[in-house]
Amino acid sequence: MESGGMSKNSTLICVPIMGETIEKMVVDMSKAKTSGADLVEVRLDTLKRFNPRQDLEVLIRKCPLPTLFTYRPKWEGGQYEGDENSRRDALRLAMELGADYVDIELKVAHEFINSIHGRKPEKFKVIVSSHNYQNTPSVEDLGNLVVSIQATGADIVKIATTSLEITDVAHIFQITVHSQVSSVPVIGLVMGERGLISRILCPKFGGYLTFGSLEPGIVSAPGQPTIKDLLNLYNFRQLGPDTKVFGVIGKPVSHSKSPHLYNEAFKSVGFNGVYVHLLVDDIAKFFHTYSAADFAGFSCTIPHKEAALKCCDEVSPVAKSIGAVNCIIRRPSDGKLFGYNTDYVGAISAIEDGLRDLHKISSTSGSPLAGKLFVVIGAGGAGKALAFGAKEKGARVVIANRTYARARELADAVGGDALSLADLNNFHPENGMILANTTSIGMQPKVDETPISKHALKYYSLVFDAIYTPKITRLLREAQESGATIVTGLEMFIGQAYEQFERFTGLPAPKELFKQFISNLQ
Ligand code: NAP
Repeated sequence: MESGGMSKNSTLICVPIMGETIEKMVVDMSKAKTSGADLVEVRLDTLKRFNPRQDLEVLIRKCPLPTLFTYRPKWEGGQYEGDENSRRDALRLAMELGADYVDIELKVAHEFINSIHGRKPEKFKVIVSSHNYQNTPSVEDLGNLVVSIQATGADIVKIATTSLEITDVAHIFQITVHSQVSSVPVIGLVMGERGLISRILCPKFGGYLTFGSLEPGIVSAPGQPTIKDLLNLYNFRQLGPDTKVFGVIGKPVSHSKSPHLYNEAFKSVGFNGVYVHLLVDDIAKFFHTYSAADFAGFSCTIPHKEAALKCCDEVSPVAKSIGAVNCIIRRPSDGKLFGYNTDYVGAISAIEDGLRDLHKISSTSGSPLAGKLFVVIGAGGAGKALAFGAKEKGARVVIANRTYARARELADAVGGDALSLADLNNFHPENGMILANTTSIGMQPKVDETPISKHALKYYSLVFDAIYTPKITRLLREAQESGATIVTGLEMFIGQAYEQFERFTGLPAPKELFKQFISNLQ
């Protein structure tokens, strides 16, 4: 355990400054300083009009932070289309006027560095960069690339590649880790959503700097986080070689609020961990690639919960009967993966609490689910968790699913009945039933969708929706209008989150913080 306070790494945060005018750039430089940046990258190629002698002097004089000047040509993914000599003249002038760094592309770096030989100010550094917009080469090829960049006389190596899979980032981590024993630092970043962890975890793996944008979406390369997220969400300054990595594995996954919750909780108890979004295509390959003990624990969501189970060395009995895991812990001693299902606990206890409130019964009198007819929509990971959980509490379970064969299979496994989704609207054998939606129907952005007609909702006394973005789905709104008690996906989320936090950290969950977090989302 480590406590907060001092910075634990020397990785710099650089804010890219892009603007059509010098005035806008100067304003953004101040914003970068207030946001907590260490330096700014001035993207000269984004300026509409540029008068080097006059503008560079203003930019350097007015910048409250160290400056990196980049004048990216079209042929390397930038916007500059003019004459090559003028471009390099501008970068040389920036050096003479007091810039701290310039970035020059590998293709022309040798010539550029020769041209400033003997004229370099002491604090000034040349970053030689290489951008690959197609893919991420093998570790061997990247190693060769580093050698050729170093051979130009670069002070700092910058390699940016494109992620086709999250496992590509591991190549870059290997490169930056090795750079720590060399005298030439390396900036290694992987572009795209699948490359996000390269931008967050670089302090752990020895990267020289990362980029953080001032505004979401206003980025100089795809996949850049904001500086605000780097500092506040991921506690960037506190990350170091010993920081344990946790994350939510899913596809899609960027909507997940889990990183916000766990990072805040880690910080509150002084736990040296970081929790990230992991956009994973192939979960087996993910575990195979990130097999070090430092990748310590994972939450797992749509569509990987069933495949995740197969990747575990051991699985808890409940998770085994559900056939899905949503929490995976790596045992530090031997790296073995242990799978659990915490969805079951969170969802079922939230529904029981809802029923107790409805019927004004105490928590000592057995489960209020006993004997109830419990209709589960969906037969995936969450559907199985709800079905097995309800069954265990003595409910009579019915499964309705788009793919009827999956509904049938799950119904057989829990000793219940199956329906097709189309038949659900006409299914009302009795009043006072319980309904649990575990599909993504109605989830953002398709918030107008609902899995059942409003008319059919009057037969249910309690309706639960596993979706938590939005908190009140169309299903829950219509259920409320029909007089049913509702239980939201957020209540399920918080219940399972307590348990995951305790498994991740071995510490009691800061429950008040969790509750506060949920109420802030509402
Ligand atoms: P999953 O294993 O992939 O299962 C998805 C289920 O939804 C399947 O039954 C699938 O039917 C059905 N489905 C998907 N799209 C559909 C559509 N357009 N029309 C009809 N049915 C559709 O996913 P999961 O992990 O169980 O997650 C399901 C939902 O629960 C997600 O929205 C997730 O965010 C939410 N969830 C919430 C929490 C929480 O804490 N609140 C926890 C876990 C999950 P087929 O069998 O026909 O494909």
